[in-house]
Amino acid sequence: MEPLYRLTLHEARAQLAAGEISAEALTQAVVERMLAVDDAVKAYITMAPTWALDQAGEADQLRAAGLGDEKPLLGLPVAIKDVLSTAGVPTTCGSKILENFRPVFDATVVGRLRAAGAVILGKTNTDEFAMGSSTENSAFFTTHNPWDLSRVPGGSSGGSAAAVAADEALAALGTDTGGSVRQPAAFCGVVGLKPTYGRVSRYGLVAFASSLDQVGTLTKDVTDAALMLEVIAGHDPLDSTSVARPVPAYSELLGGGVRGLRVGVPAEWFGEGIDPRVAATVRAAIEELRRLGAEVRDVHLPHSDYALPTYYIIAPAEASANLARYDGVRYGLRAKNPTDIWSLFSQSREQGFGPEVKRRIMLGTYALSTGYYDAYYKKAQQVRTLIKQDFDRAFADVDIIAGPVSPTVAFRIGERVDDPLEMYLADIYTLSVNLAGLPGISVPCGFVDNLPVGLQLIGPAFEEPTLLRVGYAYEQATDWHTRRPPLVSATG
Ligand code: GLN
Repeated sequence: MEPLYRLTLHEARAQLAAGEISAEALTQAVVERMLAVDDAVKAYITMAPTWALDQAGEADQLRAAGLGDEKPLLGLPVAIKDVLSTAGVPTTCGSKILENFRPVFDATVVGRLRAAGAVILGKTNTDEFAMGSSTENSAFFTTHNPWDLSRVPGGSSGGSAAAVAADEALAALGTDTGGSVRQPAAFCGVVGLKPTYGRVSRYGLVAFASSLDQVGTLTKDVTDAALMLEVIAGHDPLDSTSVARPVPAYSELLGGGVRGLRVGVPAEWFGEGIDPRVAATVRAAIEELRRLGAEVRDVHLPHSDYALPTYYIIAPAEASANLARYDGVRYGLRAKNPTDIWSLFSQSREQGFGPEVKRRIMLGTYALSTGYYDAYYKKAQQVRTLIKQDFDRAFADVDIIAGPVSPTVAFRIGERVDDPLEMYLADIYTLSVNLAGLPGISVPCGFVDNLPVGLQLIGPAFEEPTLLRVGYAYEQATDWHTRRPPLVSATG
């Protein structure tokens, strides 16, 4: 029999419902797995094994009391990216400045998972304040890709992606501002779903760039992505950007296939810069969709080249405003020997923030300053509209867009740390989706050099059901999502 930590959410849910396993046994297996392999993977900043087992015990009691049907994730162990607030549990954002911060409330998404009965295992590693594509910007340590421990897991939700790939959690939450769910999902060979902006509440998500941030899921397959989204999606009066729109029963809308579905392939995304082997793998996946009955067409996203410069004005500008609150007074780290209030502010920030965060604050402050605001920030907002209009035009012709997630497979740890521009290129195909506020999903579609490759599917706003249906159809026809990294651990 397969070890319990190998199960998907939906498989574990069925076994729990049938009384074949207990939440405690399941959580115990995952906790043991976590303790056995995390020294090598380093997915977690905070592990909470005792708390997890307590939650699992409560889940078993609730099930025994007949509450199993009301709580869709009852007894299922999941991990949370460490930028999402968890009441009483450290929430560091991968930063020294919040090293000792324990929120007094749960983020709405965390609260919803808990209300649905999920068991929280701990908090996963991230680039500092989610700024990065490799977890190398974490103030604490770098997470290792379970497929090749000398490589990055992607980022910034690299801890969550690696935890799921290494079976250290059945599923996890991440956040995606410019690709941070989809890119690590692609690098680690798991499914990463970034919902439409406004679909999921951002309340309790520590803000990076508020007009781009969205909470997403990292799961072992598409069915699990649907199960998670069903629980976390929906209007929240505490987040004015969350949309009051009914939440479909995503997991019941997976069937139906892709026959007649129009799939657009952006020519601009297969040109210069992409590893030809990654391009060929993604093209083969699109060919599979055609074989399954989809109609594949070319589309154009002519402003694609501007996504990166536009994002790197808007995201740092918003970050510089959002991060102004870390001043050594209200939260986290406070400098030890300030001479006056100004040196308290500046020394706390100097000591608390890492180099990438400082770079973004400086870029953003510059872009917003008098005399430059019109030339940079305002111009970037205008180009953002053009990028969104590219998608609007494309979606007049096709139902979804399919392409690569990242131009390469996972790169080596250390390879890009000294070259920010090279690092920024890791998100070249994902940034525009955030700028346009659209949903996107990464599904495993093959391997290059024994490293996973992701297929990105992008839909019009609130078309998550279509993305999930296409991803599910692809999964039914292939077995990439069932592959697991050959990690050796004490528990086998
Ligand atoms: N890698 C991108 C950045 O560094 C995106 C990060 C994210 O989506 N949080 O900003």
